[in-house]
Amino acid sequence: MTTWLAGARTDARTRTMLDAAERIADLQTIVVQGSYSDGTASAGTHAGGGALDLRTWHLTTLQRGRLLLALRTVGFAAWYRTKAQGFDPHIHAIAIGCSDLSPSARAQVADYYDRKNGLANDGPDDGPWMRPIKTWEQYQADQNEDLPDTGTPDDDGDDDMATPEDVWGYENDGVVPNTDAFGVLVTTMAKADVAADKADYATKQLNSVAAGVSALSKALRDNGVITGAQHTAVNAELSGGGVPGLPR
Ligand SMILES: [Zn+2]
Repeated sequence: MTTWLAGARTDARTRTMLDAAERIADLQTIVVQGSYSDGTASAGTHAGGGALDLRTWHLTTLQRGRLLLALRTVGFAAWYRTKAQGFDPHIHAIAIGCSDLSPSARAQVADYYDRKNGLANDGPDDGPWMRPIKTWEQYQADQNEDLPDTGTPDDDGDDDMATPEDVWGYENDGVVPNTDAFGVLVTTMAKADVAADKADYATKQLNSVAAGVSALSKALRDNGVITGAQHTAVNAELSGGGVPGLPR
C-alpha cells in the first residue's frame, strides 16, 4: 500500500504503474510529492501528470535499489537523487509516455532514453540501465507474451527474466550463482554502490595526502631547503599518480 503525503496525487495510469512497481519491489512506497504540483524545488517538472517523488530514507540500500529497478522495469524514467547532487535524497520518477507530462518532465524522459541523468549538468544515467527501455504498455505486453501456452515457462525460447548483463551491460562473473536474476541484480547494485563510495573516499584521501606533500615541498623550496627543480620533480611525481590541481 502506497502512502501519499498530504496533497500528493497523480493520474490513474501513473498510479497503476506505481502499484505494479511496489508489488515487484515488495516494499511500501511513500509519495512525498506527486503530480500537478508546483513545488518550486522541482522547476515545474511535477506541474503536469506522471511525476512522483518517493521517500528513500526509510529504505535500506538494497531496498532502494530494488525499488529503482522495479520502477524502471514498469516504465518509469526513475533516478535516485542524492545529497551530492544537491537534493534531499529521494527517488524522482517520471511515467514514460504519460500524455500529460510537463515540458520539463518530457525533456527528462528524452534524457533517460539518451542514458543521461535528467539534471541540468547533463550527466550520465547512474542506472540501473534497462536494455531495452520499456514503457508501461510495452512492459504489460511482454508480461502477456510470457504467459506459458504449453505449461513450459520458457517455451518461447527467450528468458523471462532480465540477466545482469541485460541490465548492467556486463556479464555475471560467475561468482554469484545466477539462480535468481533479480536478486543478483539487486545485490550487484548494492555492491557497486559500496565500491563506488569506497573508491571515492580513497581518492579523496589520496588527494589530501598528495596536497599535503606538495605544500610541504613548496614550503621547503620557498625557504631554500630544496631547489625549484626539486620541487617541480616532486609535483611531477604526485601528478603522475593522477592527482590534479596541485599547487606549483
Ligand atoms: Zn521529483
